[in-house]
Amino acid sequence: MTNKTMMQFFEWYLPENQLHWKRTAAQAEELGRIGINMVWLPPAYKGAAGAASVGYDVYDMYDLGEFDQKGTAATKYGTKGEYLTAVEALKRNGISVLCDVVLNHRMGADGAEQVMVIEGARENRNQNISGQHPITAWTRFDFPGRAGTYSGFRWNASHFSGTDWDEAAKRNGIFRFEGKTWNRETDSENGNYDYLMGADLDTDHPEVIQETRDWGIWYQNEIHMDGFRMDAVKHISFDFCRDWIAAMRAHKKDLFVVGEYWSNKTEKLTHYLDVTGRCLSLFDVPLHFQFLKAATSDGHFDLARLFENTLTAIDPEHSVTFVDNHDTQPGQALCSFIPAWFKPIAYAVILLRDAGVPCVFYGDYFGIPHDGIAPVPQLARLIKIRECYAYGPEHLFFDDNALVGFTREGDEDHPDSGLAVLLTDGVGGHKRMYVGEHFAGRRMVDALEHVSDVVEIGADGWGTFMVRGGSVSVWTTEPAREFLYLNT
Ligand code: CA
Repeated sequence: MTNKTMMQFFEWYLPENQLHWKRTAAQAEELGRIGINMVWLPPAYKGAAGAASVGYDVYDMYDLGEFDQKGTAATKYGTKGEYLTAVEALKRNGISVLCDVVLNHRMGADGAEQVMVIEGARENRNQNISGQHPITAWTRFDFPGRAGTYSGFRWNASHFSGTDWDEAAKRNGIFRFEGKTWNRETDSENGNYDYLMGADLDTDHPEVIQETRDWGIWYQNEIHMDGFRMDAVKHISFDFCRDWIAAMRAHKKDLFVVGEYWSNKTEKLTHYLDVTGRCLSLFDVPLHFQFLKAATSDGHFDLARLFENTLTAIDPEHSVTFVDNHDTQPGQALCSFIPAWFKPIAYAVILLRDAGVPCVFYGDYFGIPHDGIAPVPQLARLIKIRECYAYGPEHLFFDDNALVGFTREGDEDHPDSGLAVLLTDGVGGHKRMYVGEHFAGRRMVDALEHVSDVVEIGADGWGTFMVRGGSVSVWTTEPAREFLYLNT
């Protein structure tokens, strides 16, 4: 078995040149070669912002860059044909494809309707701050540019629970439609966080349930994806998501699904997993915030507690680990970007530990030119170390507030596998760790080449490993380092 390694293959500020699918296809072989075997692609359907849309302002989910809508046929990323070519190129190179699915809301309606609403307080959506009154809401989606191709379904106000814009009064608010309730099974932030943005889908409406399933099956037939990344699941009825995933798996049973539940409270993530029957994985948002704290505490963070109460610690089987993403990068809604000095440490931790499926951020691997952010050094090497050497039983040495590490014993299927990772937010130092008695008498070296010493493993399988201040060292066998030196 090879380790799963995911890459989020986009960042927010990719150039708006409609060339991303072409680049994806062109880079598919290299991605496979560096050790990526799963790729999460951005939402591929037409957004309200047309050629400038990153994809989360969903307009028409049947328009994968094919119809002249929102001022363009191609999306920001390219045409539907180029998208298909990119997906096939990835799969040909042994890379599974996850498609980004946004089921919470729609934007850029074709027409407005008069709807009776009750306005709710922004900070507590359960509290009404108006009586019933009419607004003019953007809720009619007729898709004239597509003219019924693939689906004749048209959306109107009855399919939504609420919106945030009254076109008549030119005014923002949290407007819940007459006869609708916010879904009770959503996050409790702001009283009830069913409503996020745009026209919010009424996921109790039988036609909405049927249409989103019909679309999902259509999408699977068009794009032979291997799974989904589900956007904004804390804003969507938990039962609805669970049932939608079940419907998709009835069509293709091995789909890998990871949900974005943006909360740093692990109990909310585990509650979500409980009520959805653990039918999907979730991004380990609490671990991201642990990285941020560790990186911004001037050495006063207790590294022994790095994984404490994270999803990875509590339910590793359902955790997708990450360092940053398109929302946490500078300029974005959830900006909480991990400082550069800590990035190699965070990546060593998510890529080389056994727990969780790690997701490498495009902006970390390739850099973010828009903000002058350079690629994370040695990320390619860390990915290769994961692919080739991060196997076998794990031993944790998270027993010091500034200097912690872990080891992998390796296994017989992967020659020269096994490693020792030592990291610090302090001045550096050394630590005795156990790598396994089968390493007795062997020499280990720092594959990241920060430390030039050689560590000889004792007859008892222990060695004394070193790390420089504010960094990470990854100790491997000498043949492993030579291979890495030649191949990364
Ligand atoms: Ca919602």
